[in-house]
Amino acid sequence: MTENKKLKILYVASEVSPFAKTGGLADVAGSLPRSFAQMGHDIRVVMPRYKFISCRFETIHDFPVMISGRKEAAIIREHHIELDSEGRRTLPVYFVDNYQYFDRNNLYCYFDEVERFAFFCRAVLEMLPRIGFQPDIIHCNDWQTGPIPVLLKEQYSKNAFYRNTATLFTVHNLYYQGNYPKDCLRLLGLSDKYYHPERLEFFGDISFLKAGLVYSDVINTVSRTYATEIQTPEYGERMEGLLRKRSEDLYGIVNGIDYDEFDPARDSLLAQNYDSNSVELKRNNKYALQRAMKLPVGDRPLLGLVSRLVDQKGLDLLADIYDRLMADDIQVVVLGSGDNYYESFFKNMALRHPDKTAVHIGFNAPLAQQLYAGADMFLMPSRFEPCGLGQLISLRYGAIPIVRATGGLADTITNYDPGTHNGNGFVFRNYRSEELLTAVQAAIDVYRGSPELWIGLVRKAMTEDFSWSASALEYIRLYHIALIKRLHNRSNTV
Ligand code: ADP
Repeated sequence: MTENKKLKILYVASEVSPFAKTGGLADVAGSLPRSFAQMGHDIRVVMPRYKFISCRFETIHDFPVMISGRKEAAIIREHHIELDSEGRRTLPVYFVDNYQYFDRNNLYCYFDEVERFAFFCRAVLEMLPRIGFQPDIIHCNDWQTGPIPVLLKEQYSKNAFYRNTATLFTVHNLYYQGNYPKDCLRLLGLSDKYYHPERLEFFGDISFLKAGLVYSDVINTVSRTYATEIQTPEYGERMEGLLRKRSEDLYGIVNGIDYDEFDPARDSLLAQNYDSNSVELKRNNKYALQRAMKLPVGDRPLLGLVSRLVDQKGLDLLADIYDRLMADDIQVVVLGSGDNYYESFFKNMALRHPDKTAVHIGFNAPLAQQLYAGADMFLMPSRFEPCGLGQLISLRYGAIPIVRATGGLADTITNYDPGTHNGNGFVFRNYRSEELLTAVQAAIDVYRGSPELWIGLVRKAMTEDFSWSASALEYIRLYHIALIKRLHNRSNTV
């Protein structure tokens, strides 16, 4: 099979931008499939239909799905994303609907999470023969889709329709594993035989993530460094042994971002559009952000943070140095939601330093874009970071990232050297608050001390290419590897 062959790909994810988003997975699922479509592949996307998704769609099928010996209705709605302004080329998106499981206000964190996504996975595999789409590849993402490879291999591949279908399982974050009690196997229609260390058993539970890792033809994660890190106990979240065992099938492909969606020259949400040739205009967005966030307007360094407020993001380091940061003439704007502890911490800081800290708790996509455009620097001191999109979006908008060298941050951001002008951000290595402080101070020193160097750095950051063009090709290569492995695995089992 040549790598030029146009593939049929089903891309499965629990969140896809712009329909539903809690984090980076949605950005990837909303943009990578578009790249495949532009390359001429027959790519379709499938996700749950949450209550708040209100785009135009057509109901194309409904059928029963067996869950614990009970029938649950799956209703399939089809929407077409237009890929050109004339609407001649479109990307089909299928929504799996079920009133009991998905007609709810939030995406996740419900008592019956395991049942919801067991249903979703089965519904996807039941759907394909019915709609007559026979994919070469089913591309699964994160634990919510982990059962698909095991169901495909152990049950559905007996059906001639699925004989040649290969699977790729992408881990966007190993921390979220979908671990549930053993008796949840029955939700998947799997016997106790699968409660086994070589199968789905995981420290006394069963794991949806492990199902994906064990049974998919090929695995990847979203940066090379993270692919290496997760084979160690420090980052492996107890899956390191399995990942080492599958290391020959484990790849790292760094995420891109959609350069049309994230484009400061055309972003209609900004007070002022700008590009790498007019970076001095960026400051109007800073003033607009300061006004919107009720901070004094001016040119002092403004640091931004757009993040889920969870331990992963290195916020304890920031908390540790916060008072020292506030002793300087700088401003910090925070947008995020997550753990109560961090939400309260930042709210308190805004109360304590009203002229220097502004906080918006919640998920707000337009404000995020305005923050990337208004900030001079962008904080991402993560404890671990599979890829990270915040630093890529901030580069694109000329907010210079200050990051810890881990996972995708290590693969995309290099430390700036004012002597050689090499580097695109400020990087520290060890998980220590002093190192974060040193990196922030280095950034502020360049900003204040050498405005020309700073402008040069911003311009350089804005002209770097972290679009999908290179990584989408790497995925296509991986799909071909998965197809070869599938063929090989099949001939070994017949
Ligand atoms: P993760 O997937 O771990 O949350 P990433 O950096 O990969 O982290 O992706 C986060 C994405 O979610 C980015 O597009 C970021 O701008 C966006 N985001 C995070 N928190 C918020 C928020 N509170 N409001 C709007 N966008 C947010």
